[in-house]
Amino acid sequence: MNDTLPQLQVYNHYRRRKENFVPLDDQRTTMYVCGMTVQGPPHMGHMLAFVAADFIRRCLEYLGYPVYHVQNFTDIDDKIIARAQELGCEAGELAQQNIDLFFEAADALNIRRAHVYPRVTEHIDEIQAYIERLIEAGHAYAAQGNVWFDVRSHARYGELSGRDIDEMRSAGRVELDESKRDPLDFALWKAAKEGEPAWDSPWGRGRPGWHIECSVMSMKYLGQTFDFHGGGRDLIFPHHENEMAQSTALEGDFVRYWMHNGLLTLDGQKMAKSTGHFFSVEEVLSEFDPDAVRYYLLRGHFRHQMEYSRERLAEAAAAYDRMKRALILLEETLADSNLGIGVAEGRTSPEGLDLEAAADRSLAGFRAAICDDFNGEAAMAALFELVRETNNYLAGRSRTVCDRASVSKVLDVLREGLSVMGLFEKVGRATVPEELRALAEEREQARQSRDFARADALRDQIQSMGFCVEDTPEGPVLRPV
Ligand SMILES: [Zn+2]
Repeated sequence: MNDTLPQLQVYNHYRRRKENFVPLDDQRTTMYVCGMTVQGPPHMGHMLAFVAADFIRRCLEYLGYPVYHVQNFTDIDDKIIARAQELGCEAGELAQQNIDLFFEAADALNIRRAHVYPRVTEHIDEIQAYIERLIEAGHAYAAQGNVWFDVRSHARYGELSGRDIDEMRSAGRVELDESKRDPLDFALWKAAKEGEPAWDSPWGRGRPGWHIECSVMSMKYLGQTFDFHGGGRDLIFPHHENEMAQSTALEGDFVRYWMHNGLLTLDGQKMAKSTGHFFSVEEVLSEFDPDAVRYYLLRGHFRHQMEYSRERLAEAAAAYDRMKRALILLEETLADSNLGIGVAEGRTSPEGLDLEAAADRSLAGFRAAICDDFNGEAAMAALFELVRETNNYLAGRSRTVCDRASVSKVLDVLREGLSVMGLFEKVGRATVPEELRALAEEREQARQSRDFARADALRDQIQSMGFCVEDTPEGPVLRPV
């Protein structure tokens, strides 16, 4: 790890405060993220959580902590079964289709693949074995084909969500069942109804409850104790509370840093498949550049709630375009293009030195922001500040007298920061599009043959594509506007 970097601080939901991050193992930072229940295609609310987790992973890796990332798929549950019955297909078939759609959306949004994507249906034996151990230790009991976790048996129940048992009962989200000892007891194993997918077990045919999969699969791939556990705020209770109870009931500590992302809301309500209150990823990507959508999802701090709106998305896309134009301008300034752009070599001017100092400030600000609980909002602000200073430097300056080293440094800093954000990676070197170069050349020929009407029309066409043509002694130069 580079020792010029600040100490990373993370907000740990378990202790409700920011803490210095110290990994359990220097060689491997372990991270588990609750994945999708795949009853339908992903919507924007899902992708916010996964873009946030991907950003956190990129920050950790940038700071010198190699990450081992596990994210599950809940590929069997009541909602999947109900949806498959409606569609007249197998639950497994429906799950696979939606897993494929998840990967499509994740790839479009430049989310890097986790190292393992465990699925519930592939871990039934391990889940049953863990349930047996909980029963033997007196933390669970079988009744009428179900197995329930006995919340009263575990003193730590309620620690994560910070509620006591009576408060949780009145929260009214408990599943009523006459075979439970306490209304808060939750299902580890559920008896199957006629016609539902089911597995044989010591307690009768059935399937795992929702929470047990995350305990068993996280500990299988990451060990009893691991560094980060992520997921949306809506998972704190009951999902993560129950996961923590199951995982700490038998031995030792479980998660070292619990992190929860804020939710994406629509008209103030959580975006959710179950209420039909959502925007699908497909819908949004049909209108906006996926990289700009990723930027939109990363604009605020990941822990804050975010209200979805098309207007905010359009604003984010416009800011994204500003950054893109800055990159093009810098790349073009450095490149000796066929339009006669050149950059003088030699000593750096005082303005160039100022620009280099601005680049240093921007990088320091960027690093301080991500080390402060992964503050992507402040990190991006540091990069945009550098864009502003660079535009001032370049304004009115002929490219032939630009300071190559200073411009190159700015570009390196922007590229470094943007790669941590996972932005502009797929764009490659930002350049003036070929068709624009062709138009600029056509215009130059029209000018030389004194066809000024044609030359002006071409200039307008170029302008409508976001660029202007400057006629310099070295020939015409394209600049983003
Ligand atoms: Zn989970």
